[in-house]
Amino acid sequence: MNEEPLKIIEILKTEKTICLLAPSFPVDFYFPKVILDLREIGFSKIVELTYAAKLINYKYIEILKNNPEKQYICPNCPALVKYIENKYPELKENFIDVASPMIVMARFVKREFGEDYKTIFVGPCVAKKQEAKENSECVDFAITFKELCEIYNYLEENNSLKIIEDTLENKEIDKFYNDITKIYPISGGVAESVLNKQVLQKEEIIVCDGPKNIDSAIKDFKEFKKFRFVDALFCEGGCLGGPGVISKDPIDEKIKKILEYKDRSRYYQPDDKYGKFVHAFALDLKRKKEN
Ligand code: SF4
Repeated sequence: MNEEPLKIIEILKTEKTICLLAPSFPVDFYFPKVILDLREIGFSKIVELTYAAKLINYKYIEILKNNPEKQYICPNCPALVKYIENKYPELKENFIDVASPMIVMARFVKREFGEDYKTIFVGPCVAKKQEAKENSECVDFAITFKELCEIYNYLEENNSLKIIEDTLENKEIDKFYNDITKIYPISGGVAESVLNKQVLQKEEIIVCDGPKNIDSAIKDFKEFKKFRFVDALFCEGGCLGGPGVISKDPIDEKIKKILEYKDRSRYYQPDDKYGKFVHAFALDLKRKKEN
């Protein structure tokens, strides 16, 4: 096993931890069993990023409404951000000034639960490791779904999993209100969840995924001012095709799993609510300025 998963095992044993679970998790893991597994590994709390995605949507809507002449690029995919910074530095100014769901959720949970918790992002993405390093004041580690499985298997083989009772409560995410943003990891999911708010017209958006399609999307964006928002993900199939994903299912099958989870998860609310309502008043949603 690599050094990083071993380090995480140590942290899980000795520290209070929060798992920041990426919304693509149903592609590789079965809900609600996965939540019990995460507690057996040692996570103290488990949150989805979807609450942060909702806060981000509100901010996008505000910015888009207040700046009708401007063109924006969604900066949620760190591989896309690096690609544009290197190849199209003149477009750096077009990144909408809102941090990614991983960063916003990490800032939120540190404020909500306490700075003494270590935050560990678990997702499909290798590029998030660098993004976590650049935002180490709120994200302590980023690991992939593949690494999560390695950790689970290692602990199981060494009889070191925690004993957690199989109750509904222990299979419940430490939830905050969220819904439509569960489609964020699907290619075009960000744009679709913003579209629902009637801020952008469909014909003002460019959606693309996969490295082969980025250049032509950027060409259109630069050439036609009618495009106000680019929702691009560097991996083919969006985050569902990320390098840290285990499943080799076709993208259509993976999308089905995300949508099925979106519907099914509603019934796992012990209090019949969609999650805890808290307000995120004055939470910093901005991207970190480059040094
Ligand atoms: S598209 Fe790929 S590189 Fe971009 S955030 Fe998703 S998994 Fe990471």
